[in-house]
Amino acid sequence: MSDRRHNFNAGPAALPLEVLQQAQEQFVNYGGAGMSIMEMSHRSGIYEQLNNETQALMRELLNIPDHYHVLFLQGGASTQFAMVPLNLLTGGRVAAYVETGSWASKALKEAKLIGETAIVATSKPDEYRRMPDLTNLVLPEGAAYVHMTSNETIQGTQFKSFPDTGSVPLVADMSSDIMSRPLDISKFGLIYAGAQKNLGPSGVTVVIIRDDLASGAPEHVPTMLRYDTHVKNESLYNTPPTFSVYMVNLVLKWIKAKGGVAAIEKANAEKAALIYDEIDRSGGFYRGFAHPESRSPMNITFRIADEALEPLFVKESEKEGFVGLKGHRSVGGLRASAYNAVPYESCKALAEFMADFRRRHG
Ligand SMILES: *Cc1c(COP(=O)(O)O)cnc(C)c1O
Repeated sequence: MSDRRHNFNAGPAALPLEVLQQAQEQFVNYGGAGMSIMEMSHRSGIYEQLNNETQALMRELLNIPDHYHVLFLQGGASTQFAMVPLNLLTGGRVAAYVETGSWASKALKEAKLIGETAIVATSKPDEYRRMPDLTNLVLPEGAAYVHMTSNETIQGTQFKSFPDTGSVPLVADMSSDIMSRPLDISKFGLIYAGAQKNLGPSGVTVVIIRDDLASGAPEHVPTMLRYDTHVKNESLYNTPPTFSVYMVNLVLKWIKAKGGVAAIEKANAEKAALIYDEIDRSGGFYRGFAHPESRSPMNITFRIADEALEPLFVKESEKEGFVGLKGHRSVGGLRASAYNAVPYESCKALAEFMADFRRRHG
C-alpha cells in the first residue's frame, strides 16, 4: 500500500492497515447480515454480541478485575472532564488534581465549575517538561478523588508509574496512552480515554469504573451524565456510536493478535527510541521538549535549535510522505505521535528523514 502516508497525526490518528481493510471487507455486508453494522439496530442480537465482545476484549487485554465496569460513552474525554466531578465530587468534598499540561488543565477547569478543587502536584514551573513526583502526595482532608493525566499528548510527557492514593480513588485520563502498556487496574477508581488516539476512530470514549464509584451521583445529575445509567444499561441506554465501537473491536483483536499490551509496549519503546536517539545524537540540532525521564513513547515533542527551520522541516517532510509533524498550535515546535498503530517502518523512515535534514541544514 505505497499510497499510505507515514501518519504521525496526534488524533484522530493512524489505524492499523489490517483493521481498515477488514472494515472495508465487511462494510456493506457485516457478518452476512445483508447490511452494514451502521445500518442495524443497536438492540439487535448482532450488535449486542459486538458490544459484549468488545467489553470482554477490553477486560482480557487490560486484565480488568470483575468489580469494574467497562463503558462505551460519547462526548469524548472532554465530557469526562465534567462527568467525573458531576458524579464523584459530592458532599462538599475537594477534588485533587495533578497539573501536568494542557489536558490536565482542561480537566481541572471543568471540575472547578462543579465544586472545590485543589492542585496537589504541578509541573507548571518546569513548563510542563516533566511529570511531577507523586510518591509523597499530600491530599486535602476528605478528598473525593485524585485526578491525573497519564500521558500529556501536547507536551509529550508520560507518567512511568502511578501513585498509591490509599482509600481515595485515583482517576486517570489515559486518552493518549491506553492499551500502550500493561496496567494494574486495581490502583484506579476510574480510567477514561477518548478512542481516537490508540483505540479506534473518534466518537466513542471508553470508561473503566470500579463498581462502588458507579452509584452515588447526586439526584440532580442528568440521566445521560450519570455513570449508573450506563452501568445499568451496559452502555445501551441510548443509541451508542455503533460504528466506532465496531472499529474499537477490530483494533482490540489486532492488539491481541500482536501478543497483547506487553508486546505492544515493547514495540512502542523500539519505535520511539529510533526518533529519540536521533534527537539525542544530533548534537543540539534537535532538542527534545520533555525531560528524558518523562518522555512519552506516544507523543515525541521536539524543536529545532534554529526554530526558523521548523516550517521548512514540516514542508519537506510532507513532500516525503509524512503527515502530522507540526507541533500543537498552543506550544509550537514539532511532534511525532507514534501510537500503537504507527508502523515501525514509519518511525524508521522519520528518524532517517530527520538525520538527512540535519545533515543538509546543520
Ligand atoms: C485528545 C485528548 C483529550 C480530548 O479528547 P476529546 O475526545 O477530543 O474530548 C483529552 N485528554 C487527552 C490526554 C487527550 O489526548
